[in-house]
Amino acid sequence: MADERAERIAEFIGPLRVKPGSKVNLRRDFDPRYRAGMRKRDGIELLRTGVSLLAEYQERLAAQNTYGVLLCLQALDAGGKDGTIRHVMSGVNPQGVRVSSFKVPSTEELDHDYLWRYACRLPGRGEIGIFNRSHYEEVLVVRVHPENLVRQKLPDEAGGPGLWDRRYREINNWERYLTDNGFKVVKIFLNLSKEEQRIRFMKRIDLPERNWKFSAADVRERRRWDDYQHAFSEMLSATSTKWAPWYVVPADRKWFARICAAAVLAHTLMDIDPQYPEVGKQARKDLLAAKRELEHEAPAGAPADPYASRHPTADRAADGNDTPAADGRASGTGRPTKKKRG
Ligand code: ATP
Ligand code: MG
Repeated sequence: MADERAERIAEFIGPLRVKPGSKVNLRRDFDPRYRAGMRKRDGIELLRTGVSLLAEYQERLAAQNTYGVLLCLQALDAGGKDGTIRHVMSGVNPQGVRVSSFKVPSTEELDHDYLWRYACRLPGRGEIGIFNRSHYEEVLVVRVHPENLVRQKLPDEAGGPGLWDRRYREINNWERYLTDNGFKVVKIFLNLSKEEQRIRFMKRIDLPERNWKFSAADVRERRRWDDYQHAFSEMLSATSTKWAPWYVVPADRKWFARICAAAVLAHTLMDIDPQYPEVGKQARKDLLAAKRELEHEAPAGAPADPYASRHPTADRAADGNDTPAADGRASGTGRPTKKKRG
C-alpha cells in the first residue's frame, strides 16, 4: 500500500476503527455527528473519487479471482443502510457485487445452526458480498429479544449463561477461517443518534411516498434503545479483531456516512491490492496466433488492428515486448501480406 491515496484513506478511517481488545462504550467513544471537520460540498466530491476508486479495484478483484470481500452493515432502523449501499456501490459492476438482506429467519433457516443462512450467502472469489444486516443480528436482536433464541430450538447444553460469549467466539473464529481462506471480512456499524432517528421516522410518517418505509415495529424497537446500545457496545468490544475489525461510522449526516463506508471498503480492497493476472508464455502465444488470424480478416482499407492503430502503445503490450508486430511492420497500418502468415 505504498500509494499515497491508500495512506490518506487509512488516516481518514483510523478514528472510526474499533481497536481490537478495547472496551467500547458507544455513547462515550463515538459521536454520531462527527464529520472530521469536513463540509458537505467537499464531501460529495470526495465520495465521487471514492466510488471511482472502488470501481477500479473491484475490476481487479474480479480479474484476479483469488480474494473475496464480505462487507457487513449493521444499524438501527433508519440508520441509512440502504442508501449507503446504493451510493457506495453506484460505480461498480453489478455482476461483481451481491447484496443479501437478512430478516426474521424462516422455518427452514431456524432448522439449521445459526450461522447457516449467512454461510449460504457468502461471496465467491472475485466478488464483493454485502450483508444488509448480518450474522451480528444473532448477538443483537436475538439478545435484546430472547424469545428469538427460543425459536432457534437449541439443545439445553447450548443455551444458558455464557451463550453470548460463546457466540462472539464462534463468530470471531468463523471470520478468521474466512480470512485465512481468502475472504476479507469488513464490518461497518452506522451509528445513529436517538434524535436523528426520531427525525427520520417523522419524515417517513409525514411524507406519503415514504410511508412504506415505516413500520410500527420501528417505534417498538426504539423503546429498547438503551438495550440495543448496550448490545452494540458489547458486540463491538468482543468482535473487533485484527483480521476483521469493526468501523463505527457516524451516521447522523448521510453524506458523511457514505464517504466513510466507501473509504472503509476502498481501504480493504487496497490492502488486498488485487492484480490483473499475467498471461503465461503459452497463453501469450495463443493470443498472438488469434491476433494474426483476426488481422487477416481485416476488410480492404481497414487497419489490421483497429485498436492498436488508435492506441499506438497497445499493440506492444499484446506482444509483450517493444518490437514491432510479428509480421514485420508497425501494426495497424494495413493488411498483412499472405507470405508473412503463420
Ligand atoms: P428497512 O430499512 O427496509 O426497514 P430492515 O433491514 O430494517 O430494512 P425489515 O424488514 O424492516 O428490514 O426488518 C428486518 C427485521 O428482521 C429487523 O427487525 C431485524 O431485527 C430482524 N432480524 C434480522 N435477523 C434476525 C434474526 N436472526 N432473528 C430475529 N430477527 C431478525
Ligand atoms: Mg426496518
